[in-house]
Amino acid sequence: MAKKQFKAESKRLLDLMVNSIYTHKEIFLRELISNASDAEDKLAYKSLTDGSVDVKRADLKITIVPDKETRILTVSDNGVGMSKEDLESNLGTIARSGSGQFKAELAEDDKAAGKIDVIGQFGVGFYSAFMVADHVTVISRAWGAEEAWMWQSDGADGYTVTACEKEAPGTDIILHIRANADDENYDQYLETHKLQELIKKYSDYIRYPIVMEVEDYRMKDKPEDAPEDYKPEWETVKEWKTLNSMVPLWQRPKSKVEPEEYNAFYKEKFNDWQDPLTVIHTSAEGAVTYKAMLYIPEKTPYDFYTREYQKGLQLYSSGVLIMDKCADLLPDHFRFVKGVVDSADFSLNISREVLQHTRQLKVIASALEKKIKNELLTMQKEDREKYEKFWTAFGTQLKYGVVSDYGQHKEVLQDLLLFWSSKEGANTTLAAYKDRMPEDQPYYYYACGESVEKIAKLPQVERILDKGYEILYCTEDVDDFVMKGLREIDGKEFKSVTEEDALPQTEEEKKAAEEKAEAGKPVLEAVKEALDGQVKEVRVSSILKSGACCLSADGPVSIEMERYMRKVEGGQPMKADRVLELNADSAPFAALKKAVDAGDKDTVAKYARLLYAQALLLADLPLEDPAEYTELVCSLMI
Ligand code: ADP
Ligand code: MG
Repeated sequence: MAKKQFKAESKRLLDLMVNSIYTHKEIFLRELISNASDAEDKLAYKSLTDGSVDVKRADLKITIVPDKETRILTVSDNGVGMSKEDLESNLGTIARSGSGQFKAELAEDDKAAGKIDVIGQFGVGFYSAFMVADHVTVISRAWGAEEAWMWQSDGADGYTVTACEKEAPGTDIILHIRANADDENYDQYLETHKLQELIKKYSDYIRYPIVMEVEDYRMKDKPEDAPEDYKPEWETVKEWKTLNSMVPLWQRPKSKVEPEEYNAFYKEKFNDWQDPLTVIHTSAEGAVTYKAMLYIPEKTPYDFYTREYQKGLQLYSSGVLIMDKCADLLPDHFRFVKGVVDSADFSLNISREVLQHTRQLKVIASALEKKIKNELLTMQKEDREKYEKFWTAFGTQLKYGVVSDYGQHKEVLQDLLLFWSSKEGANTTLAAYKDRMPEDQPYYYYACGESVEKIAKLPQVERILDKGYEILYCTEDVDDFVMKGLREIDGKEFKSVTEEDALPQTEEEKKAAEEKAEAGKPVLEAVKEALDGQVKEVRVSSILKSGACCLSADGPVSIEMERYMRKVEGGQPMKADRVLELNADSAPFAALKKAVDAGDKDTVAKYARLLYAQALLLADLPLEDPAEYTELVCSLMI
């Protein structure tokens, strides 16, 4: 009998499948089971609308039979079945409506390969069988028909359809599994435990039972006349088992799900041994329809801040997994969220256009982003202790979010941030900080350093605290960037206490400062000369209160940034233009002045180097020559 040829696109696709450039060969089972489930659905629907069809929903099931001897794996259903014409048109052609779109995508397939689950995206279902089988037989009998038909193919070179016998309506998909290859283990698709695993992974929520005969190892019943020293005996029994759990948790109404069920699902699905911090169970109908169940873990996953960590939500289409980690569903700043999204709008059918999916993904992603934010805000307001836990685990990620993408997520994230408050001695939100602000306070103040204790002792901090203003103590590397990223909220700017204009001066204060600077000029010049190019400028400080000296930066690179760059880049860091600030009212300044007035250059040089070293230490920057500094200090003792 002459073989019939596949339609052109089908042929192209078959080539792709067989020489499979795609890594997930295992999805063939999901595809065949989904088709079987569709067939059961169609029959169930028929029985509702057509009085002559009499089926009990309870009888509908999908049967899996592996046979290692013959290398045959059979997937059977008792659904609607296919007529001869159905076989020809359904399995002889693919993607009639969407083939143009599909071809355009294929043109880009080199890029797409490995990156996306192509089959999941395009739902080319049935053909995926050829990834693992070198011969496929389909025996089908349509409901209401007496005759059955057998479709057979070895792949790209065509197919045959012949008449055959079949006892009951439905379809058997019979795969002759390929021989093992060097780089591919096909044997596993005949192993019951592997098949069980795949069904659990991809088809757990198919609404019909998926049954397979599995071996169970169990203890024999103890005989009545068992002797005293009876030892239990074990036996292997074969039994038919339903492998899928059938009702997805997320499809159930919230009120019908117990907290333990939410937690158990999370732990099993996302391999965490701890309960999640919180769960968000939500759904939407309208432009897109979906159900989602999102979790926020309690602890930072061990690989969270590494390249290995992949963000994403599991994407289901009516209970069938189509993508394990759909990254597009989560913005980076919420990449710690785990969960599932189920939307019938993502059909497994290829005729859906891919672009349309992208739009739907965007709509869902932005709705979920809002949900997550609201959940966190509610937690922040109603269960602060829990929120602090969340903040410890993922706060840094939110800060990265503020800084990334040119600050475009600032609006979403600013309400969620916490910083250490000098006034509260605890974390504060920016809103609470704002509420406590005295009316005359011009800025949100912050100070960066290694620890809260160290920051509190910074000489620059004193004058701000003395005014009764609160300071946000920032101890993370990213904080300085976060503050610069936030820039302002409702017109109020963020200001580092190390900036000269952090406290606005009155005209009188300005004048007094200028006079002081003028009077100090000879000292400043002498110190600058002694430091020999190590600092850009030496100035009389207007930001010190009791401290003798500190370091500031002039220009775009702040001291905090330099410190950060040193950490991440090592070697040759970006350097701030350094300014040594001296307190003209301090005793050391008086000592300096005395030496300058006396023309004692050696002493001036010694004092200048000492003060500069103090300023570096306070700024947490390394001394260029610690040995020289030690000598210098020791020389004062003699
Ligand atoms: P899709 O499922 O996206 O339509 P497939 O390639 O998986 O694409 O299947 C093609 C078509 O073949 C299905 O739409 C269906 O009409 C038919 N088909 C496949 N498997 C079965 C089955 N087990 N029973 C009845 N029809 C089937
Ligand atoms: Mg299908």
